[in-house]
Formats: sequence, structure tokens, C-alpha cells
Amino acid sequence: MDISKENHSKNGVYWFTNDLRLSDNLAFIRAAQNLDSLICVYCLDPQLLDTNEFGISSLGPHRAKFLLDNLFELNASLEAYGSSLQIYFSNPVEVFSYLVNEHKINSIYTAKQFAYREIEDFKKVQERNPSIDVFEIGSHTLFSIDDLPFELNEFPATFTKFRKITESLNLRESRVFTKVIPSSLPGMMNFENNFAIQALKQVASLHGLASGGEIAANKQLQNYFSSKSPARYKKTRNSLDGWSNSTKFSFWLAHGCISPIQIMHKLQEYEVTVEKNESTYWIYFELLWREYFQWYALLHGKRLFLHKGIQQHALGDSFNLKSYVNWCEGRTGFEIVDACMRELNATGYMSNRGRQIVASCFVNELNLDWRYGAAYFEHMLIDYDVASNWGNWQYLAGVGADSQGKRHFNLEKQTAAHDPEGKFRDKWL
Ligand SMILES: Cc1cc2nc3c(=O)[nH]c(=O)nc-3n(C[C@H](O)[C@H](O)[C@H](O)COP(=O)(O)OP(=O)(O)OC[C@H]3O[C@@H](n4cnc5c(N)ncnc54)[C@H](O)[C@@H]3O)c2cc1C
Repeated sequence: MDISKENHSKNGVYWFTNDLRLSDNLAFIRAAQNLDSLICVYCLDPQLLDTNEFGISSLGPHRAKFLLDNLFELNASLEAYGSSLQIYFSNPVEVFSYLVNEHKINSIYTAKQFAYREIEDFKKVQERNPSIDVFEIGSHTLFSIDDLPFELNEFPATFTKFRKITESLNLRESRVFTKVIPSSLPGMMNFENNFAIQALKQVASLHGLASGGEIAANKQLQNYFSSKSPARYKKTRNSLDGWSNSTKFSFWLAHGCISPIQIMHKLQEYEVTVEKNESTYWIYFELLWREYFQWYALLHGKRLFLHKGIQQHALGDSFNLKSYVNWCEGRTGFEIVDACMRELNATGYMSNRGRQIVASCFVNELNLDWRYGAAYFEHMLIDYDVASNWGNWQYLAGVGADSQGKRHFNLEKQTAAHDPEGKFRDKWL
């Protein structure tokens, strides 16, 4: 980023993506500080609703509902600062060409992206508008690229190496947004007639497991760290069920209603004022997995989505439509798998252990191409995050990081360990 250019840019757009919050949003805070007038924009790309190469759309009903919550609340928060959120049902390249031509925009601010398609969108916006200054500032991860003590092309090959290097790094402070935002597009916003909102409403399910938005995110943060749950996280995190057995921060992290830095500061406060033990460390450990997959996605780009992953050779598995549909619908005959899949379909959430079990069944028992499983998760999960989803699927399929071949979970043993009395299966089957 060229700071000297930044100082001359006065009429700009803030492009919200997976950073749907005002607090600790470095890119947004910078835009509000530097611009005389600021238009806040969100683009809902219609492509997300089209059937993709895996026969399913990217955006399913549970995430659509959560996204709607996020957009409504973000608009309300911006209104309190004299602005509003302009939501376009169009791809970002078209939206920004329009805005630049019609509204004398001379700069665009946005959050740094880590996944291939999102980075391509960003590059295309830049290429189509060469006279505009485009600033990309990171706030989705714990560390910035400058914090990392290695170049991206020297990225550690395994999570363990990554963790050992990053564990001791200092975290930056969490920043609060206070500035008044001076401008919005007059009269443009009408939530009732907005195409993007209507499109989302058509897909969104009525009821949601969790409410979107920065307020709900902070409430969950507050509730979780006011309880005893963090001090026993390591013992409970592998449970298939139970709201307080894991943090449930993933919903809000994936949409950017909260930053990982905000979570870490709350965790550190808990360690100082309540208790510090192996469990509290393990919350950080899991956030480092998230961190690892973000940089991994940035490094590997398109290879995150290839059948052979980041490895040299493709797997020999095939595709059987009937097995795939049975898995999606929770009708494989493996009770533990079916219960987890039915939970996913009904709620848009599945525990980490559940995700490992059903993904293992997909690639091992059913011998299916792992990318179809990942695409189904993408459609169904509220907390879908490109890097975490495709990175974890690659890992389990044995074509990703730290490859020791496919991870195979013994379904009988998993059932005995995690649902010995059959309560979870009774709930969902
Ligand atoms: C096949 C598969 C697909 C997955 N897809 C996603 C996805 O699309 N989005 C997503 O956020 N997570 C994904 N995960 C990781 C993990 O299952 C969820 O983050 C977790 O279950 C969310 O619940 P929680 O917030 O209560 O997690 P907690 O156990 O409380 O963990 C705290 C936080 O650490 C991070 N985290 C924990 N485990 C992982 C992990 N294995 N990889 C990356 N980050 C992790 C998450 O941000 C999580 O919110 C996937 C895991 C698997 C095995």
C-alpha cells in the first residue's frame, strides 16, 4: 500500500466483505479516518446462488439467514453514524465500475482477502479502475503479513511448525471505532426494495441457530468468558452436542462480526482474572489452526480446490451419485454419520468431531471425491470459511497440509467414545 497516495484520496468507498463489523476493523477505521466522504458498500454476487460445478449453490439457507441479520444490523450501526450500507445484487467488478463512473470515487478501502476467488475479484476491481487507489488492509487474522517471521514462500509445511513459530508472537491491540462517518449515497438505500435483500430472503431459512451481527457476537464472547466453560474447554471440545462445550465463535468469526484479536484479548483477560490452564491454552491452539489455514489458502491459491490438493498425484476415488445423496441426506446407514448430517441440514452447524467423522466416512467408507463433500459443507454451514473448510477437507482427504494419507476415523470407536448412550443419535435420527 502506498501511504503517500492514501493522503490524497478523499472520496471513497468502503467495500465490506467478510468483515461485517465496525469495531477492530482496521481497514474500515482507516477509511473513516482518511476520507472526506465515504460510501459503504456490500456486494452480493448472484453467482453465489447459482448451481456450481458440484451441482449445488455456494450460499445455502442457514448462511443466507445469518448474512441477512448481519447486513441489517450493520446498516443500523452505520445509520447511527449518519451513513448506511448500500447493498448491490451484482458482482463487485460491475458495482465498482458503476460507482467510479457515477460518483467521482477516487479510492476504495477493503479488508485483505486470503482465498483465491475473493483475491481474483479484488484484482479485477483494481484492473478495471486503474485511476483509483485501492487499499487492502488485514483484519481477518491474528497476525499481519509483517508480523510473520518468514516469507510466504517459506511457509511452514506443517501446522506444528507453524504453531511453534507463531505461538510466541505478540498480538496487536484491538481497536475501537469512534469516528463519525460523513457521507452516504442520498436516497439510494431502501431495504424493502433492495434486490440483494430480496434474493437473500428467498433463500434464507426462517429460524436460525444463532443470530448474526456484532451485538450477538459480543454477547456470545461475554457469556462464554463469564462462564466456567473456558477452563474446561479441552475436556469438552470434542463433544458432538452442547452449546457450551465449545466456544461457538465460528459463526461470527467467519462473517467477520468479531475479530480473532478481540477473542484473544478476552481470553488473556480470563487467564489473568479467572484461570489459566491447558484448556484456555487450547482455545488459542484452535485459533492458530484457523490462522494456519488462512495463510495456507493465500499461499496455495487455486490448489485449495483441486482434487489432488497441494500434492502431486490425484486420489483414485470415484463419484457415485446415490452414495453422495445418501450422505447429504443422512441416510448412509452409519448412524453416527447420519445423525451428524441431519443436524447439519436442520441447523447449519456441526461440531468439529462430527465434521471429522462425516468427512472421514465420505472419503473412506463411501470412497467419494472429497471436493463434493467440501462443496456441500460450503452450502450448508453458517460458519463457512473458505480457508478453514477446504483446508480441513484437504487435510482429512490426505491431499493437504502435513499429509500422512487419508485420516480414517473408526466409526464404531467414535460412536462408543462420543455417543455411548445414543442420546445424540436419538435426537437426530
Ligand atoms: C471437514 C471440516 C470442515 C470445516 N469447515 C469449517 C468452516 O467452514 N468454517 C470454520 O470456521 N471452521 C470449519 N471447520 C473447523 C471447526 O470444525 C469449526 O471451526 C468448529 O467446529 C466451530 O465450532 P466452535 O466455534 O465452537 O469451535 P471451537 O472448538 O470453540 O474452536 C474455537 C475456534 O477455533 C477455530 N477452529 C477450531 N477448530 C478449527 C479447525 N480444525 N480448523 C480451523 N479453525 C478451527 C474456529 O475459528 C473456532 O471458532 C471445519 C472442520 C472440518 C473437520
